[in-house]
Amino acid sequence: TYFTKATFSTSAPDIRHLKHDEGVEVAFAGRSNAGKSSALNALTRQKNLARTSKTPGRTQMINVFELDEERRLIDLPGYGFAQVPLAMKKKWQQSLGEYLQKRKSLKGLVVLMDIRHPFKDLDQDLIYWAVDAGIPVLAVLTKSDKLKSGKRKEQLMMAEEAALAFMGDVTVQTFSALSKQGLPELERMIMKWFSL
Ligand code: GDP
Repeated sequence: TYFTKATFSTSAPDIRHLKHDEGVEVAFAGRSNAGKSSALNALTRQKNLARTSKTPGRTQMINVFELDEERRLIDLPGYGFAQVPLAMKKKWQQSLGEYLQKRKSLKGLVVLMDIRHPFKDLDQDLIYWAVDAGIPVLAVLTKSDKLKSGKRKEQLMMAEEAALAFMGDVTVQTFSALSKQGLPELERMIMKWFSL
């Protein structure tokens, strides 16, 4: 697929250090352990393109993966570690808000959430900021293979209802990196944002 040609481009310590605000980018965000790295690896059919930080609270880098000269995927650091000092959290939130508000090349935000407990406070904050900035959001309920189909549908319906409360362009889908359920939908949305 188009996404298999993703290659690692750069790491940035902070959103403010991201280079050229040109072309088109789609960002991936989520609580640590939500399944973001697994989703990026499934999307790009690469085993180790995105790696998880195994050290809770460690300062994570933002990773940029290039698809072609104009298009890239942005892997934002996972959030929600209890151990992270408040000052660091505040700083991260501020720069994230700024990124969503000011980044002209940002065309969509993928927010990954464990299907068993979606829309936690920080997820909601993030989605509100994105909606406020006019950035379309794809809420991806990950690890769908962990639930039986009845419970999965129930969680999806509840999440779709919760998504309405944001009063913006927020789409919900389920996804499994393990079974690849939802992969075509994820691809389709990103292709659309990339205008492909
Ligand atoms: P990240 O911290 O958001 O990058 O999360 P990871 O991609 O590293 O995943 C966190 C944990 O969830 C790992 O142990 C993964 O193996 C597991 N995981 C991720 N995606 C899935 C999935 O679709 N199904 C199942 N069963 N486990 C998953």
